[in-house]
Order: sequence, then C-alpha cells, then structure tokens
Amino acid sequence: MEQRRLKVQLSEELSLSAVVQGFWRADSWNMTTQEMVNFMHACIERGVTTFDTAEIYGGAEAKMGEAFAADPSILKEIELVSKTGIYLTEVDGATFGYYNTTKERVLQSCKESLKKLHADHLDLYLIHREDPLLNPWDTAEALLQLKKEGLVREIGVSNFDPYKFDAMNGAGGQLVTNQIEWNPLCFEHFNTGMMDYLTYHKIHPMIWSPLAGGRLFSGNDEACVKARKKIEDIAARHNVEPAVIVYAWIMYHPVGAIPLVGSQKLDRLDLAIKALDVKLEQSEWFELYSASGQQVIR
Ligand code: NAP
Repeated sequence: MEQRRLKVQLSEELSLSAVVQGFWRADSWNMTTQEMVNFMHACIERGVTTFDTAEIYGGAEAKMGEAFAADPSILKEIELVSKTGIYLTEVDGATFGYYNTTKERVLQSCKESLKKLHADHLDLYLIHREDPLLNPWDTAEALLQLKKEGLVREIGVSNFDPYKFDAMNGAGGQLVTNQIEWNPLCFEHFNTGMMDYLTYHKIHPMIWSPLAGGRLFSGNDEACVKARKKIEDIAARHNVEPAVIVYAWIMYHPVGAIPLVGSQKLDRLDLAIKALDVKLEQSEWFELYSASGQQVIR
C-alpha cells in the first residue's frame, strides 16, 4: 500500500493515517507487553500509524504505555491520540459515570495520561463527550495551554453536535477533528447536520465503531439483518469481504472520514486498508445508506 494514500491531513501540523487502530478494547486482548509491541509494529508496517486511546478505556493507556516503555522507537513512528472528560465514581455501591471538562481537570488528566503512556506529548487530544456543563471558554483555555506547553500538538473533540463544536471554536478552540460514531446502523451525525458542518469546513472526522462494535455482523434485530444482507450483496459484486464494503462506504463520503478499527486481529485491520482500493458506485452508497430502514431516500 502506498504511504501517500494512507495519510489524511488534519492541519498544517498533523496528518493521521487514513485508517486508525483503536485501543478501546486493549485491556481485554490479553496480550503480553511483547505481543503488544509486535502488534503495534505490524500496524506501523501496514501504514496504520495513528493509535487511538482514552483516559476512560480501562487499562488501555497503561497497557500501551508498557509497550512504549519496552520499545520507545514506536512513539517516534506514530501519531498518538487520547481523550479526556469521562469519569467513574461509586454511588450506593454501583459505578456511576459523569463528565468533567473543566480547565483544571483537563490539565491534570493530560499529564496523567502522558505518565501512563510513557510519552512526552500527544499528537491529538480530544474532549471525549458532549458535557452538558461544558464551558467552552474554560475548556478551550485548557487545551490551548496544553498546546502552548508542547504537551499536545493538536486538539479536537468527540461526539459533539454543531452547536458545541462552534462554541469551542468560537472560544478559540482551534479544533482539527470531531471523533463521531457512524456505521450503517447509526446516522446521528447526519441527522444533527454535523456531517454537513464538517464537510463545509473541510474538517475530517474520525469514525468510531464503523462496524457497530461487531453488531453489524452478529446482531439479529431487523435493522442489522437488513444492513448485513445489503453489505453482503454489494461485497459479492466487488468480490471482497463484507467489512471492506463498510469501510469503503465510510471513506466514499466527501467529508474525508477516517475509520477507527477496533479489532486486535491484523487480518481484520487489513480489510480496512483494502477498502482504500474499492470504489463504490454512487447508487451503491445510497443502497447501504437506506438499507437498515433508518434513512429514507425521498
Ligand atoms: P468496530 O470495529 O466497529 O468494532 C470492533 C469489534 O467488532 C471487535 O469486538 C471485533 O471483534 C468485532 N468485529 C470486527 N470485525 C468483525 C466481523 N467481521 N464479525 C464480527 N465481529 C467483528 O470498532 P469499535 O471497537 O467499536 O471502535 C473502534 C475504536 O473507536 C475504539 O477502539 C476506540 O479507539 C474508538 N471509540 C471511540 C469512541 C468515542 O466516544 N470517541 C467510542 C467507542 C470507540 P474482534 O476483536 O474479535 O475482531
């Protein structure tokens, strides 16, 4: 695969690989540190140089950090992305999740993540979720301070709607991406206008759960069954594996989306890379857009 095609430029400072490896589930992969080092090298050899993690992903940052400590050369070859803003506490014996995107918390979290990751900076740092208590001026100030201190190269958000995205940018946010969910079963960001907003502003989104967390290929509800049948039909036409079609469908959109792969299996990562060479017909894009029954073509 040509390296040139595998890069997407987010800003003058930062390009990401066109396919990103996600580490959300890394804690359950049961890899030794050496296996994690080998896995990371195998991603890099494929041109997949951007690794995505978050403070809230269990022990993922620490597991990745152990690999970086064992082989510091990896950090020189990748773009490291992490996120902040979600916390867990215990209420009446049960785990309770909440958000905190205050300046003080963001500054503290970034330093804690860097420590766990054994890294001296993050290439991209994102506010993980839409915090209803978000004060864009306060949060943007934190992100800009981290940039100024050289602890992060670029900043962005995740799961934001156009109003909050605009508010953060208006407050000086300098956001270079929005990491959002999109797959043939989830169209939230088409319905909020976020996709139009990003396309107009030439901001490339990162796409999480492109395979709906695997549900697309294992779910038995009507929407899954209908979407899966359509994916299989289109895959047969192109003589590729079904997952390839989903990634090709995501990358077809003019917004220039970057899918995140969640599997630890390299042959499944290869399916996303293969999609870079698959060109769908315009009508096929709409076939899959409407397949689950959630989006209607009028
Ligand atoms: P995904 O690729 O949609 O789902 C991965 C899951 O699907 C894995 O459990 C994988 O199992 C399974 N899978 C893959 N191919 C399959 C197939 N052909 N048949 C059946 N199952 C299959 O992505 P994701 O893990 O949900 O998300 C990707 C990344 O996005 C995460 O790692 C994380 O970095 C990021 N993320 C961000 C947010 C956010 O709020 N910003 C939220 C969620 C995730 P195997 O491992 O067994 O292959």
